[in-house]
Amino acid sequence: MTVLRIDKLRTTLRLGGRDCDALREVSFSVAEGETLAIVGESGCGKSMLAMSIMGLLPAVARISEGRVILGSRAIEAEPESRMEKIRGAEIGMIFQEPMTALNPVFTVGSQIAEPLRDHLGLSKSEARKTAIELMERVRIPAAASRFESYPHEFSGGMRQRVVIALAIACRPKLLIADEPTTALDVTVQRQILDLLDTLQEQGEMGMLLITHNLAIVAGHADRVVVMYGGDVVETATVRDLFRAPGHPYARALLASLPRVDRDLSELASIPGRVPPLAMLPDGCRFIDRCPHAMDICNRMPPTVELGEGQGHTVRCWLHVEGGEHAADG
Ligand code: SF4
Ligand code: MG
Repeated sequence: MTVLRIDKLRTTLRLGGRDCDALREVSFSVAEGETLAIVGESGCGKSMLAMSIMGLLPAVARISEGRVILGSRAIEAEPESRMEKIRGAEIGMIFQEPMTALNPVFTVGSQIAEPLRDHLGLSKSEARKTAIELMERVRIPAAASRFESYPHEFSGGMRQRVVIALAIACRPKLLIADEPTTALDVTVQRQILDLLDTLQEQGEMGMLLITHNLAIVAGHADRVVVMYGGDVVETATVRDLFRAPGHPYARALLASLPRVDRDLSELASIPGRVPPLAMLPDGCRFIDRCPHAMDICNRMPPTVELGEGQGHTVRCWLHVEGGEHAADG
């Protein structure tokens, strides 16, 4: 079953009196029990995508086209009052910095218990019991005795465990993890990612894992969406992407291997960087950095299916039959 389907989503920003598309025709889906990674350099649209799904776009931005379907319901036009409920109960969220999700003046236990009372209607004592069970599930040692602790009394890794307990408290359909381990040291990173894998294996939750780190993609995702300049440029299983990337941008990313854990903003194999939003070209947004750019690339490339029904797609004129010839004319 599909837990999330994004269909031709366009998110538009008003910048200096002009509309700019921060996301164009973004389409993909996340199945039950699946981890879909969204990967790309900073500025590629990953966080804009997460904010579009969660209804947390800044005032200058709006979804101008397309759909966000959670389960079987379109939510892209829901008012904030509805989205607030959906975010608490049906979509769990984990951000890079755990303190953005935690309130420093309340105990961690009360913060985990709150959504259980608000969304699931548990009594105070039931919520406390369930919150402690959740703290145990995310492997916070001596959970019962830490119920009354405050966020500042936890280490960064333990705080992220608290956020995960909070995110999964109401058994969401979808978990959005936006760079969940970027702020943590490598050992703790691995523990947190392993924990997310385990939690997901135990339930039907789908996970959207937003990361700039290809090692995390390789180790923890089932499928990958590669983004560039607000476009989905490639969608593939992890295996297909690492074996046979089709888009010149994805190829360049993978050419940086084996130094996979290096920040993508420092990639030496692709000169240049994602242009600022207001300067993105109308056609292929990778055109200025692409070694294969042709005249036709000034037009938005279509999405082409590669291989045999593995859902491997690429948005690039190189893969369009006769695309090069269209450029000759
Ligand atoms: Fe390069 Fe053209 Fe493909 Fe864009 S569409 S990635 S410019 S070949
Ligand atoms: Mg980001």
